[in-house]
Amino acid sequence: MKLWVLGSGSAGNAVLVECGESRVLVDAGFSPRVLASRLQDIGVAPASIEACLVTHEHTDHVKGAAAGARRWGWALYASAGTVDACAELVEANCVRVGTGETVSLSRMVATTFATPHDAASPVGVRLSCTHTGATAVVCTDVGHASESVRALCTRADLLVIESNHDEGMLRAGPYPPSVQARIASRTGHLSNRACADLTRGAVHKDLAHVVLAHLSAQCNDHGVAHQTTADALRRTRYRGALSVAMQHHVVGPFLPRAGRGAPEAQYALGL
Ligand SMILES: [Zn+2]
Ligand SMILES: [Zn+2]
Repeated sequence: MKLWVLGSGSAGNAVLVECGESRVLVDAGFSPRVLASRLQDIGVAPASIEACLVTHEHTDHVKGAAAGARRWGWALYASAGTVDACAELVEANCVRVGTGETVSLSRMVATTFATPHDAASPVGVRLSCTHTGATAVVCTDVGHASESVRALCTRADLLVIESNHDEGMLRAGPYPPSVQARIASRTGHLSNRACADLTRGAVHKDLAHVVLAHLSAQCNDHGVAHQTTADALRRTRYRGALSVAMQHHVVGPFLPRAGRGAPEAQYALGL
């Protein structure tokens, strides 16, 4: 399994997960032109992607999904609430997936988890490779670490998790009080501090890489976000890596530990 964050933040989000020949996008919140360019940067043909799972209908997650599906033949999946809230997904025959249901792809199984966010029926996504058992979790746009969010984040090899804002920078930032309240609410976005706490609880022996995502351009700082979660992880037995996703370029690939679906292990097993 390999994972790249093609870009993350309020101007667009997309995560690519690959297992063998199977490639899946979680969200496609960029125009097809930008998606094609980011994929070209990592040598991936857009038409080689099997499916796109859309977490919710906000533009920064759905923008290029329907157009990408039309142009490159992706299968589209989203919750019923998300599809019904987005005419483009309805027109593109997006498959409705019940929260907690699984979707079987050629080499991965996707499971969705309800997330607390101010959208119709938002979800986080867990993708497991059917050949190696390696698991990637994408958990962004969450107002707080609900029980369902904590369940989503357990036993991941690769964890992409929201670290949206620093609470002090949000209070001192440019947003009016109503927008600040929306971001900080239990259905808004996860602060660095809440992210650090959630990540600490997600540590287990196979967790190999944590990628902080959906950072606010106005109310966060890459160094501050990294430091907050790094400090929390230092007090655990976590020995994996910690990275920060970028809005305007790709980061990755991130791989599970050897023996947990890394390419060497797959070849050794003749898979
Ligand atoms: Zn959102
Ligand atoms: Zn978002």
